[in-house]
Amino acid sequence: MLIVMDKDATDAQIRAVMAKIESQGFEAQPMPGGARVAIAILRNPGPVDPGLFVEMSGVIQAIPVSRPYKLVSRETRREDTIIHLPGLDLGRRHFVVIAGPCAVESEIQAMTIAQSVKAAGARIFRGGAFKPRTSPYSYQGMGEEGLKILKKVREETGLLIISEAMDQESLKLVAEYADIIQIGTRNMQNFSLLRCAGRTRKPVLLKRGMYATLEEWFMAAEYIMSEGNAQVILCERGVRAVGDHSRNLLDLATIPPVHRETHLPIIVDPSHAAGRRDLVLPLARAAVAAGADGLMIEVHHEPDKAMSDGAQSIYPDQFQTLMEEIRTLRPGEW
Ligand code: PEP
Ligand code: MN
Repeated sequence: MLIVMDKDATDAQIRAVMAKIESQGFEAQPMPGGARVAIAILRNPGPVDPGLFVEMSGVIQAIPVSRPYKLVSRETRREDTIIHLPGLDLGRRHFVVIAGPCAVESEIQAMTIAQSVKAAGARIFRGGAFKPRTSPYSYQGMGEEGLKILKKVREETGLLIISEAMDQESLKLVAEYADIIQIGTRNMQNFSLLRCAGRTRKPVLLKRGMYATLEEWFMAAEYIMSEGNAQVILCERGVRAVGDHSRNLLDLATIPPVHRETHLPIIVDPSHAAGRRDLVLPLARAAVAAGADGLMIEVHHEPDKAMSDGAQSIYPDQFQTLMEEIRTLRPGEW
C-alpha cells in the first residue's frame, strides 16, 4: 500500500503516518521526488486496511499496490525516475550513452579510448576492473589499480565512470571510485550483493540475468530499492540465444513493459547481446528506436589486442558513426 500525503503535509503529519505503519510491524519507506510525499508500506504479509490511514491528518489517499515489486512499480511512483549524476541526468528525456572497453587494461589504453568516446559524445566511461569471466584462467581485471585508472580518466576527461562490482569486497571499492555501480548478468540474483548495493548511495546499473523473467529482474531491483537506494537503472543485455549467429538474443521487447510497469530508466547493451562487432550498430539503432533511455557500448581502439570481449568491441570511428546516427534517430535534449 502507498500512503499519499497532501502536498502541504507537515513533517509531524508524515512522521505520525510512519509511526503508525511501524506500530503495525511493517516498514515505512518514504518515496523520493514528486510534488508530494508518498510513503510505501513494506513487509506486510497480507493486505493492509486503508481505514487505518485515510482518516489521519495530512493523508489524502491510500492506494493498494498489487505488484510484488512494490517500490519498482509504477503503481507506487507515477513519474519516471531520473538518475541525478554529477552534472548529468539520466532517464527518459535525458538520453545517455555509456562507452568504453570491456576491461581496463592500462592507463594508456583507458585514456586513449576515453578521449575518443568523449569526442564522439559519450558522457559516461565504462571499464571493468573486476571481470566476471567464465574461465578462471581468463583475464580477471586489474582490481583496484584499474579503479585508480578510471579515477584519472574522470579527472582528465570529465567523463563519469561506471564499473562492475562482483562481490561485497569489490563493491566497497567500486562504490568509492565510480559514479555508477554495475551489477552483471551473472549476479542479478546475488541477493546479498543486491542488498549491499542498496545500502550504498551510488546509482546501480542492474543488468538483466541471462535467464531472468521481467518479474525476476524487477524483484532484483526491488532488493536494491528496499534497502533505501532508489537510484536503479535497468540494463537489457540479451538472454540465452538459440543458434550461434549472436552470442545472446537482444530482447528489445523488454523496453515497453519496463516503461509501463516501472518508473526506472532502461538502457540497452547491444555489445554483450551481439558478441560480434558487425551486429552492434544495427542492434543499437534498434534499441534507440524501441525507446531505450540510453546505450552502453564496448569500444576498443585495438580490439584484436583486447584482454576481453575484443570481438564485440567496435572501433572508435564506428562509435562516432553510431553517435551521429543516434542523434538523427533521437534528436532533442540529451
Ligand atoms: C560487461 O559489461 O563487461 C559484462 C561482463 O557484462 P554482462 O554481465 O552483461 O555479461
Ligand atoms: Mn565485456
